[in-house]
Amino acid sequence: MHLLYHWRSDNYRRDRRFGFGFHLNQNSPAMKEAGPGESVWAFTRRRDGLYALAAELVVRAVTLNSPNYRYGRFRVWGDLGRSRYFDVDAPRNNAEPLIRRALSVRAEADVLGRSFQGHAAVRPLTAEDHRVLSAFARDLPHTRAAGIFAEDEFEARLLFGERARTRLIEESGERRDVRMQYLYETVDVTRARRNVETLHELYDGRCQICEFDPYARYAVRLCNGHHIEWLSRGGDDVLDNMALLCPNHHAAVHKDDAVFDYATLTFAFSNGRREGIRLNRHLERAA
Ligand SMILES: [Zn+2]
Ligand SMILES: [Zn+2]
Repeated sequence: MHLLYHWRSDNYRRDRRFGFGFHLNQNSPAMKEAGPGESVWAFTRRRDGLYALAAELVVRAVTLNSPNYRYGRFRVWGDLGRSRYFDVDAPRNNAEPLIRRALSVRAEADVLGRSFQGHAAVRPLTAEDHRVLSAFARDLPHTRAAGIFAEDEFEARLLFGERARTRLIEESGERRDVRMQYLYETVDVTRARRNVETLHELYDGRCQICEFDPYARYAVRLCNGHHIEWLSRGGDDVLDNMALLCPNHHAAVHKDDAVFDYATLTFAFSNGRREGIRLNRHLERAA
């Protein structure tokens, strides 16, 4: 089922600062209604008080987050190729009349956002609603605040202290500064290293997916601490959000943007392959 979602403007701005990572974390169980290939449409309030269409996430999967995750129980994984973030400040991006009158959703409060609070923040849409939104969105300009970054190298640099070499971040201006500040100041590098040490101790340096044991075979340390919700997407630098992976699994997970579900502790790849965490002493299942 297609869905309409009210992205609270404070959350929208926070998420935008990190660069949208084609994910949406949300508490409403209604999120589970969105199936693969269906759309989650999001709108938000602009600074001038108008409501604008913010995104169309074409769903790859909806998973459960870690039980200790702060920003919502469910995660919508958007299709990287088909999802879009719109320029909310574009003059013609005034979506309130459309939401109030052209869609089947009920929205009667004086201030539009008040009709979309709590569980009412996420609403089911009909096929016709979806068609109307698609037509409205057709010519909307996209925002450049959405992107994909070479996160594994980000993480490697963060963890191994190669902070001088920043060529990977091909961003400019304010957004680059914000991200750099997040990676090098907000995220505690010492803690990140400590977490990786802890993972190596917990698993004797073995990959949690395939149990590959580099010490036994080569007497060297090869596995990487992976952040399940990538740091560049605003993921937390806590053990809860980390797994120890061999370089092959680490690269595959990043290249494919594999979906991780805490309900099953499984990575799902886009070709349909699923690989579970076989060694687990620290990740808690979500129920
Ligand atoms: Zn592995
Ligand atoms: Zn990683």
